[in-house]
Amino acid sequence: MYISISGGCIGCGACVALAPEVFELNAANQARVHSQSPQDPDVQAAVRKAEQYCPKQIIFADADD
Ligand code: SF4
Repeated sequence: MYISISGGCIGCGACVALAPEVFELNAANQARVHSQSPQDPDVQAAVRKAEQYCPKQIIFADADD
């Protein structure tokens, strides 16, 4: 699973709340991926939720990596 975030983050923190193993907010309150390609199925599921619930729809997770 390769995860990317495109532009337009509003810093709501939803992705960080759902999957802190993968996402964090930087000093400018922009989400970034701090740990790529999670192997844990629970974390992958949390990333899918973040992808679904991001209010800006800017999180993308590829199934394979
Ligand atoms: S859920 Fe979307 S808008 Fe909110 S912090 Fe994460 S990437 Fe940014």
